[in-house]
Formats: sequence, C-alpha cells, structure tokens
Amino acid sequence: MEMAQNGFDGRPGLTDTLGRALRDLRISVTDRCNFRCTYCMPKEIFGRDYEFLPRDQVLTFEEICRLARLFVGLGVEKLRITGGEPLVRRGLADLIAMLAAIRRPDGGEVDLTLTTNGSALRALARPLAEAGLRRVTVSLDSLDDEVFGAMNGIEFPVAKVLDGIAAATEAGLAPIKANMVVRRGINESSVVPMAAWAREANVVLRFIEYMDVGHSNGWRLDEVVPADELIETIGAVWPVEPADPNYRGEVADRWRYRDGGGEFGVISSVTQPFCRDCTRARISAEGKLYTCLFAVDGHDARAVLRSGASDEELAAFVQGIWTRRGDRYSELRSAATSTLPKVEMFAMGG
Ligand code: SF4
Repeated sequence: MEMAQNGFDGRPGLTDTLGRALRDLRISVTDRCNFRCTYCMPKEIFGRDYEFLPRDQVLTFEEICRLARLFVGLGVEKLRITGGEPLVRRGLADLIAMLAAIRRPDGGEVDLTLTTNGSALRALARPLAEAGLRRVTVSLDSLDDEVFGAMNGIEFPVAKVLDGIAAATEAGLAPIKANMVVRRGINESSVVPMAAWAREANVVLRFIEYMDVGHSNGWRLDEVVPADELIETIGAVWPVEPADPNYRGEVADRWRYRDGGGEFGVISSVTQPFCRDCTRARISAEGKLYTCLFAVDGHDARAVLRSGASDEELAAFVQGIWTRRGDRYSELRSAATSTLPKVEMFAMGG
C-alpha cells in the first residue's frame, strides 16, 4: 500500500486523529511470567495457580510474523518483543529470525528489540542475537537483593540479572538499556546506586515513574517519585543536562552527564505526559490490538487473522483502528480514571 508522507515526522505512514504516526509495535508473545513484580503482577492477586492463556488462544509465530509484516507496511519501524516475560516462550529465537527478515517498504531493516526481566538472558542472549535481535532492554529495580526481591515478588537475585546483562553485552546486543520502576517507600534509595552502576557498566538506565497500569497494583499517587525529583537526586551527585531526543516519539526524556559519564532517561507518564507524541500500538499474546497502555479494551485481530482474511483486509482493519485513534490517557489521568478496569500490563505487553 503506497503511503503518503505525514506531518508527524515527514515519513510515509498512517496517522491518528491527533496526527501521530504509527511507528512502534509492541508484540507480547506470552502473558506468562516467572516474576511477580508488585507494580505489574502482584502475587497476592496473580498467585502460582493463576490461569494464563491456553496455548490455542496464543498467536502462533506465523500469525505474529504476518501481523508484524503488515504493520511494517503501514509505517512501523520498530518491533519490540515483550510479554509477560518473552524469554519464557519456547523457541523464541525462531520467531526472532522470522521477524528479522522483515523489510520496511524502503528496503531498510526494522529496529528489532526486546524487553526482558533478564532471568534467562545468560542462556538465550547469544541465540537471540544470532537470530537477528539487535538490542535488549532489561528491567532491574535495585542492586540490593532485599529491595529487588520486594519489587519482583519472588526474591529473584540481582546477580543473575547482572549476569544476564553481561551475557547480552558479550553477544553484542548493544546498547543495553535498563528500566527501573521507582516506587516511593520501596526502592527510591536505590536510584543513585543504580545510576552509579549504569555509568560504570555503560548501560543506558531509564527511570520509570510508577504508573496506574491495569487494575490490580493498588496504585497511589503518593508512591510516585516525580521525574523532577529523580533528576534532582541524580544531579546532586553528578552534574547533568538535558539531551535532545533521538527521534520524535521517543518514550524517555534523555539526560546527559556533563562529565562524559553517558546518559540516562526518565519516563514520566504521570507528571509529564507524552501522549502528544505517542506512536505505539500493542498486540497482546492472544492477538488483541491495543492503542494505549491504559486501554480498557482492545480489537480482536486474531479473529480477523483466523477468519481467512486477505492481507488487504487485515491491513484495512489495522488502518481503520489507528486512523480513528484518539487515546491520551496520561493527559486525562485522575482519581476517577485510575480505578477504571484497565487491561493488565502483562496481558498487553507493557
Ligand atoms: S497513555 Fe496511552 S496515549 Fe498516552 S503515551 Fe501512554 S500509551 Fe500513549
């Protein structure tokens, strides 16, 4: 499908009702996870006996690949593999190889990346890199085992995640990014030690404001550590300055250490919403298309996929949804919205 250049970033691609281009597809390959992070899948609610999606309801690699190819044809330039925890999906390297073969309409490669809790990276980093994965983002909320254990809900040791990051570096999955969700009263004291580690390890650390994702994490505004406070905390130790975004729609605000110690990012959905530049769509493991992280419902792409629809019909389905999109939840967030029955983050791919 021939796409016109859009006013968002001057490149061909669909735009929504707020003029935002479709550039970034997050593909959840499973709703399963071996962690029970308190801000995403608290174990009090999602216990060991929680029933995850049965296999026949989960998209096959072929279905994921077909959808991804169509999205790339509509202007998507980045594919992010997520979960739950994507590394628990068996044969993931095969899917990565299929996705890495997809080309943009201009013949260019797609930016193929993945977000993981790092627990299986030691074993899988190299096969994933050999299959075509380019980069990886690892979630790590503290270097202190007790604090990290309190955040991940299963007392998973920090050393194993750090070893996974080392394996990813050895496999050439660079630059490595690390995501740290900061929750007041639990891990804000880990902010400076994490920043020091990331400077040393040459990892781009992104601090994420604790969000009211889903409807089970008991979110409270007073547990959010605002972006300004995070930057002040870091700046009190190392002089920092704002850095320009790499591209329009980049999620994290970039900050540079003035001493040449690299950069870090802040993802401030609560105190500095960035909906105006949001270019992200999400496909859940069961094939639902979501146009916002805080959605209450999605669109059943799996039904279309399994109905025998042609590529044109499937592309028209996606086009219809994106061009009618008007989401801007974070701009509208209030005490009333935070209790909406939003889809759980692990069920749509974060
Ligand atoms: S709240 Fe929704 S629309 Fe806003 S940035 Fe997040 S995903 Fe995008």
